[in-house]
Formats: sequence, structure tokens, C-alpha cells
Amino acid sequence: MYVVDEEKENREIVNSYRRLLRKAKPFLKDDDARQIRKAFKLAVKAHEGMRRKSGEPYIYHPLAVAEICVEEIGLGTTSIIAALLHDVVEDTDYSLDDIRHSVGERVARIIDGLTKISGVFEYGSSGQAENFRKMLLTLSDDVRVILIKLADRLHNMRTLDSMPQHKQLKIASETIFLYAPLAHRLGLYAIKSELEDLYLKYSEADVYKEIVDKISATKESRDRFIKRFIRPIQQALNEHGFKFTIKGRTKSVYSILSKMRKKDIPFEEVYDLFAIRIIIDTPLENEKAACWQVYSIVTDFYNPNPDRLRDWISTPKANGYESLHTTVMSREGRWVEVQIRTKRMDEIAEKGFAAHWKYKDSPGQRGKGLEAWIASVRSMLESNDSSAIDFVDEFRTNLYQDEVFVFTPNGDLKTLPYGATALDFAFEVHTEVGLTCIGAKVNQKLVPLNYRLQNGDQVEILTSSKQKPSEDWLRFVVSSKARTGIKHGLRDEIRRTADLGKEIVARKLKQLKVKMTTETYNQLTDFFGFKSTTDFLYQVGKGQIEPRELKRFKEALEAKKPVRRARAIADVKSLHKEFEAKGRSEDILFIGEDMDIVDYKMAQCCNPIPGDDVFGFVTVSDGIKIHRTSCPNAPELLSSHGHRVVKAKWASRHEKSFIADLEIIGTDRVGLINDVTRIISGEHNVNMRSITVDTDTGIFEGIISLYIDNQTSLKELIKQLENVEGVVKVTRKKRTFTHTTIEQAKK
Ligand code: MN
Repeated sequence: MYVVDEEKENREIVNSYRRLLRKAKPFLKDDDARQIRKAFKLAVKAHEGMRRKSGEPYIYHPLAVAEICVEEIGLGTTSIIAALLHDVVEDTDYSLDDIRHSVGERVARIIDGLTKISGVFEYGSSGQAENFRKMLLTLSDDVRVILIKLADRLHNMRTLDSMPQHKQLKIASETIFLYAPLAHRLGLYAIKSELEDLYLKYSEADVYKEIVDKISATKESRDRFIKRFIRPIQQALNEHGFKFTIKGRTKSVYSILSKMRKKDIPFEEVYDLFAIRIIIDTPLENEKAACWQVYSIVTDFYNPNPDRLRDWISTPKANGYESLHTTVMSREGRWVEVQIRTKRMDEIAEKGFAAHWKYKDSPGQRGKGLEAWIASVRSMLESNDSSAIDFVDEFRTNLYQDEVFVFTPNGDLKTLPYGATALDFAFEVHTEVGLTCIGAKVNQKLVPLNYRLQNGDQVEILTSSKQKPSEDWLRFVVSSKARTGIKHGLRDEIRRTADLGKEIVARKLKQLKVKMTTETYNQLTDFFGFKSTTDFLYQVGKGQIEPRELKRFKEALEAKKPVRRARAIADVKSLHKEFEAKGRSEDILFIGEDMDIVDYKMAQCCNPIPGDDVFGFVTVSDGIKIHRTSCPNAPELLSSHGHRVVKAKWASRHEKSFIADLEIIGTDRVGLINDVTRIISGEHNVNMRSITVDTDTGIFEGIISLYIDNQTSLKELIKQLENVEGVVKVTRKKRTFTHTTIEQAKK
């Protein structure tokens, strides 16, 4: 229980205030100290009489947050003042104007930001997601808001003991969900690790304690091992005249547990419980050479694992992290990670962003990664109109990911999340480039859109003005920029097509003398069996519903019996009945015209296009599918399941787009691809969907996927392509996608 002793408390308040000033002293200039004092007095007065859950005076908290800002993040006077006053507007009678009046506009703006984002984030609640979005918006305004918020959260986590258990869990969950990733992304490694460990302490107390106990039980033998390991290195570094310190760093409890769970191993088998960190003191201009010299010394004594060399000095991580990591074999036969870095790099790694500011005069790329990140967050926020929850999800997926570094054709470096594809890169260049991307050249070789980029790839994007975004793309892109871009593109596309559909419908209804009201559109949507009016209009715009079909709607309307469009049928018998009812003498399905009798779809295994010889197959649960007679699944379907086969023919003049794959074989030459794509783009009824080419051995082998209107256009195109110099043979490829097996075709 907490016993109030005001005298002791006042002493403690004064002590921690003095400690704060002492730690801030190296940064202070002019009348900074006076300003801080003023803020401190204001905070004391504002929080007077208030106590924390623990029973302590409230002012302990802002003082501690300010101290974290100085000591652990390296922030200066403005932040100290803002930290001291961060809870004043929210929790006391003082207003933002009072703050502005007393400590000025700049601090007031930061506190305004902090007040706006206060309130805890709760996953699944849109109000709180919106809060988080606001918080990120402040990134573009003043990143100190986020940093102070993190300091605030860290202190609350350190003092979580006094909270009731259900609140502990809630606060801890928010911390692991958002604040730890955020700290990671801002390069605040020390804070990130502590937040993660504290999360574990409250979410899985037993597991946490067990690991902590094991770490301390093995400490002695570990220390002995480290001592033996670094002895020869120390000696050699001294001989070479290096100024340095070497530390053995134990992994955080959280990352040890993650490793145990990921690899499904006990504590005893986590081989990299610790890493050796060599920090050298060297002038800026020598940094890189010096680090590699140390690397050379280390590997003189111990053999390195070539697969585990990480050079974040030549290319720092996007959050600014710089270091050289290697894993070497110790004499005891176990792998040891060695991290080599300079004092400056170490400070940036521990304190992150603020340390960047301190070194911002340094040459080269430093700090650029973070600025680029903040800029990308800003553009994401500005372009985002999806729901706040979606947004948070997408943002989070980008937080922890590792990165892949690739180059533009001009040699500019781009950083993308690990697993990014050529299409992600295209969207990174520009949304418009992404939306019209048909493929890419990576290191001079053609690759498809979903090619996964490797470190060091040089990427050139190929575009076509006829390309349109596809829902498929969402299945392989990983960056939120690409996802957002595709979703926007699809939405725009749907809107444009629906607008077109609306015009068509309006024209036809006028012709039919049907009055156009919202009610009419609702009835139409219902009549054709769609969930939303937009879906219906989109299908009209796409030509999937013919204007003349609207006539049936009018008939139904006049007959006052709103019948629905035909549904999928389950067997040939019921199809026969339908045909009979329509007075047909023969059971032939006319593709393109019989939509009112029965619903059918094109089979994905062979994608028939008008003109192909086809048949219908009544599947078990998905209505009729139209196959080419040359489909690889056709023999079995026709022979073993003849009772489910329906004759089908193309109704004339009914033209829609279908997918066809062309295989092109020839001898490779410069410009061949350009000639091929030019011809395809020139052909009126053809749209290129994707292109994949392999030119490994001087032989050119490509597969071009097309949207095509009919057989005649396709034949014309093949003829033209075969006339291209170098092309030997063009054939329509049988689509034998693995995702449609014979089993699936029957379903
Ligand atoms: Mn607070």
C-alpha cells in the first residue's frame, strides 16, 4: 500500500526535476533552463492534488516521460517542455490557450497533437483506428509528437503494476500491436525491445519469468565464454591502434521466445542468445574502411558463415540502422554473431531518430531513409479513403517487414518491403506506372509482374496504355502503396464501367418508355440478381448484360410479376425442361443468347473464345461451364460423364473479351520484344494482359496472355506476329492451369 508522505514526495519531485536538468544540460542553450523551469512549475500547479493509480503524485509521470525523452531518445528543450505538459490539457482544467500563452505556439502545437491522439487504441474499434491514423498524420507535421507519445507509453508500461489486470492486458496488447512496431520503424531499438519484454511480462507472466531465470542462471558461463572469445580480437585491435569497446549483448526475452516458438526449440538450443558488439571510435570519413578492417581482423581468428554477412553500412536500413553483422564459428564449435559499428552508428541504432538530427550534417545518405519513410506514410495517408481499420492493418504489415534493395535503370536505389514484386516496384515509381504495368526487365531479362525482387536487382518497368488493373494483382503485391493503388484503380475502373452501363440503361429504358427512378434501378438490380446497383450497371457496362435483355424486364414489369433472371441448373434434365418450355426442338445452348434460360460460365482450364469448338458441362454445384473440345479435360468429361454434357454453339455477332495465351518461339534479337508488343497494341480487338519471356540461350521463348474478342482477330494477330523478323512460330497455348484439375472441372 502506498503511504502518503508529502515531505518525502516533494523531495522526490525536486530530485527528479534536478536529475532531468542535469541530463539535459549538454543540450541547453540561452534561456532554455528558464523555459523548462516555467513548464515544470506550470505542470506542478496543473496536476496539483492529482495522484496516479499507484497513489503517487501525478507529476512523477510527466517528469519521468521528460527524462525518457532526453536520456533514451535524445530529444531537446522543446520536447522536454512538451513532455512535462503532455497530460495537462487532457486531464486538468487548463486549456491549450493557457499553454500557448505560457510556453508559446510551438509547444502548444505538439501538445495539441498529443491530446488529439490520446485515448487508447483498441483493435477492431474504428474510432480508435481513426485515432491511430491521426497519430500518424502528425508524423508529417512534427515527428516529436510520436516520439513523446512513445516515451509516455514506455513509462506507463514500466509502471503498469498498479493497474488492474484487465487494463494491464489491454494496454500491453496495444503496445505490442502498435507502439513496439512503431518504435522499431523509427529505429528506437532499445525502446522497442523494452516494450516487447514488458508486453510479455504482463501477457505471459510465467513464460517471461522462466526465460529471465534461465538467462541469469547461464550468465556466468556465458560471460566466461565471451571473455575467451574476444581475447584475441581485443589484442589485435589494440595492436592496430583502434579505440574501441566490446560488449556481449544478450538478446531480449521477447526475441528469445520468438525464436524458440518459430523454430520449436527449447531455451537451451537457442544458439544466438547473445551477440558480440564491437564499437569503434573513428572519424566519420574513415568509418566504412575501419569497420571492414575490424571485420577482417575478426575473421582472421574465426571462420565466417558467408550466408550470414549483413552489410548495412553501404546500404543502411530504411529506418537509418547502420551496422556490419557477421556470424563466425567459435573454437567451441558454436556460431557467434558479431556486430561491428562506430560510436555514431551505435548511438543512432539505440536512440534512433533524434540521433539522426544530431548527425544531420554528416555526408551521404544518412537520415534519408527515414525521411523517405515519413514521406511515404504521408502520401499513404493523403491518398487513403478506405476505412481506418483497413488502413491500420495495411500500415502494420509494413512496419516489421524487412526490406529488399533494388535499383532503377538510372542506378537510383529504392527500398521495398521484403517479398516485393516487379509490380510493387512499378507502384513505387508511380501509381500510373503501376496501373499500366505489363511486365518488367530485371537485369536485362524479362520477368512477369509477380516476379519477386532480389537484393541488387536492376528493374525496368514495361507499360502499355491498354493495360488495366486486375483483382489478381492483389494476390501477390506486398507493399501498401501497390495495394492502395490497385484498389483505387479497380474502383475507378468499376466506376467508369458502371457509368457507361448507366448511360446504356438510361438510353434503353427511354426507348422502352420505362420511367427512370431510383426504384427502377433497384428493381432492375433485383431482377438481374445483383446485390448492388453498381454491380448491375458494371455488368451492363462490361457487356455481360445486353441492352435488349432489358426488354424482358419491361415485360415482367408489365405482367406485374418480377421474375428473376435464370439461375444455375443442376442437371441436364432440368435444362431440357427449360428448353422445352421455350418451345425449342433441340437442346443446344446458344452462348451469348440463352442467358435468360440458363446461367453458364467459361471454364478456366481452357478459356474458350467465340469461334472455338465448345461444349457445355453441367457441374455438380456451379452450373454449366463451357469448355473447348480441345481442352485437356475434355476427353474425360466427354467420355465418362456424357450424361452431363450439353451441346453448345456460339450465337453470332456476340462478341466479348476472352483470355488467350500465345506461345512465341524465335531467335532473340535486339528490339524483338518491342516489335511484338507494338503489333499487339496495334491490333484493334486485342488487349495485352501479361508477357513472360525467357531469352536465356539466344532462343526467344515467350508467353503472351491476351484479352481477345474473337477467333478472327486472334488468327489475324498470329499471322502478323509470325511475320516479325526472328519469330519462328506462334501457337495458341492450351491453358493447363494447375488450379483446374479434372476433379475441379466436375464440381
Ligand atoms: Mn501521459
